[in-house]
Amino acid sequence: MSNSNPVKRLDLVVVGGGFGGMYAVYKFREMGLNIQAFEAGGGLGGVWYWNRYPGARVDLPSIDYCFSFSEEVQQEWTWSEQFAAQPELLRYINFVAERLDLNKHFQFNTRVVSAVWDELRQLWVVKTNKGETYEATYCVMATGPLSVPKEPDIEGYKTFKGETYHAARWPHEEVSFAGKRVGVIGTGSTGIQIVQEVGPKAGELFVFQRTPSFTMPMRNQKLEPEYVAEVKRNYAGLREAARNSAVGGLRPQSTRAFFSVTPSQRQALLEDSWKQGGLAMLGTFSDLLYNPEANEHVAEFVRGKIGEMVKDPVTAEKLKPKGYPIFARRPCLDTSYYETYNLPTVHLVDCLEEPIVEITEKGVRTEGREIELDMLIFATGYDGLTGALLAFDVVGRNGQKVNDKWREGSRSYLGLMMEGFPNLFMTTGPNGPAALANIVAISENDVNWIADAITHMDKQGLSAMEPTKKAEDDWMAIVASLGQRSLLTKAKTWYLGANVKDKPQGLTLFTGGFHKYREFCAAATQNGYANFSFAKRDKSAAA
Ligand code: NAP
Repeated sequence: MSNSNPVKRLDLVVVGGGFGGMYAVYKFREMGLNIQAFEAGGGLGGVWYWNRYPGARVDLPSIDYCFSFSEEVQQEWTWSEQFAAQPELLRYINFVAERLDLNKHFQFNTRVVSAVWDELRQLWVVKTNKGETYEATYCVMATGPLSVPKEPDIEGYKTFKGETYHAARWPHEEVSFAGKRVGVIGTGSTGIQIVQEVGPKAGELFVFQRTPSFTMPMRNQKLEPEYVAEVKRNYAGLREAARNSAVGGLRPQSTRAFFSVTPSQRQALLEDSWKQGGLAMLGTFSDLLYNPEANEHVAEFVRGKIGEMVKDPVTAEKLKPKGYPIFARRPCLDTSYYETYNLPTVHLVDCLEEPIVEITEKGVRTEGREIELDMLIFATGYDGLTGALLAFDVVGRNGQKVNDKWREGSRSYLGLMMEGFPNLFMTTGPNGPAALANIVAISENDVNWIADAITHMDKQGLSAMEPTKKAEDDWMAIVASLGQRSLLTKAKTWYLGANVKDKPQGLTLFTGGFHKYREFCAAATQNGYANFSFAKRDKSAAA
């Protein structure tokens, strides 16, 4: 330690400036804790700071996808669209930051490079890439489930001499597509949004599709002032309903099983949900994630719609997803994705028939040809759920690293804490409902839970807490048994770690719904923290 760079002692460190980090900073500051937060980006927003790609837009209703903890904020902010685009989301994030004076607690453009538990002193030693060291009683990892972009695993991907972009690291400057031959690799939620936006603007667009996704009409709308006023009048009730729903939002859900109604009624309901748009279809029947036969009927309905929208029957056939259940991959919402393929300048390259061999200086070489391009866009996804926490050294009790603990797959209690890592908390962590429910609602739940835990420790004169091994094992058994019932395991997705080479495979998301997750979180508090072990504040050695 040099005198010019002294160690700073804090109560709590927050890593990450997305929704989780923002609320954590607010909550713990209001509790009077001495805090410091770090964010690798140049501003707040997490995913919405980085993902400035053309067409980026949230696929949950804006009125849900925002903070509920501040009545002032939710009354003062007005959403303009049912599904907000990235610029509006970022404006909202900056509005909240300014309104609640959050920026001053963040050090931007700063990465935490290590966090090491000091057992003797019962604190975390946190180092940054700026050469600073902080010591804190608590560490909150608000590092997000989708913050580490996946490097494209394609031979020669750095050799391309044209313009290259990764959707998750899009530049702040405007990118022009006019007159250019553009290639997009990837057709998940991100690729679909890019294709429908860039297709009409590019000279020519080549879409490299390996696995087709199911996408449904978003049917986005401008929000009428009367509707917004009504929402604001009723926000308290709407938020309560969202917190008690499986998805943490106001999506209709049904208790009607698919085969409980006649074929013509089913058809009418599906047509109706298609017209409604959004994720209405998923909520029309209760068993689409559990009953493969029901699921296949719905998949076939959507394939029929693709056939109606895409004029060229060969292209339509290639765009129809087959071989995995609908909704097992993240369902996408689009505005004009399929219609984009009716443009004479837009070409689908089916990488199942014609696999990519390598990226060259000039473009993409498939098994059949070299496609010359001016620009290449990677929409190849993320090292999801665990990538961010494994990207730096997190060392708990007895020198155990998270990397070692998660060697066979992520393990935690409630996605909030890990045995062996005292006073280390996660928001929207793996083994929780992240990715399957509203991330803002989960973040608020998690930060509130952490705040209660810290208050409990403070009142009881405790210096450290961690879940017992049994609590963690029991939780992981619940996550596994619920996951086995779900069709989510039947597709190769980032939910399962299938998109990252050598990553442990398996569904480590809680599939029981956000409402049930909240019940488990509340029970872990209400039973007097029986599932945790604690160390007393006056102890000089760790428990
Ligand atoms: P993703 O769903 O993982 O999709 C990545 C795509 O890249 C897949 O089509 C994948 O094909 C393809 N790919 C990867 N490596 C490839 C290779 N070597 N060759 C050819 N294709 C390759 O990632 P994402 O689209 O970024 O979406 C991730 C998540 O972010 C979503 O599930 C969603 O939760 C979130 N998201 C949400 C929104 C929204 O709110 N509207 C928008 C964007 C993202 P394979 O499937 O064959 O591997």
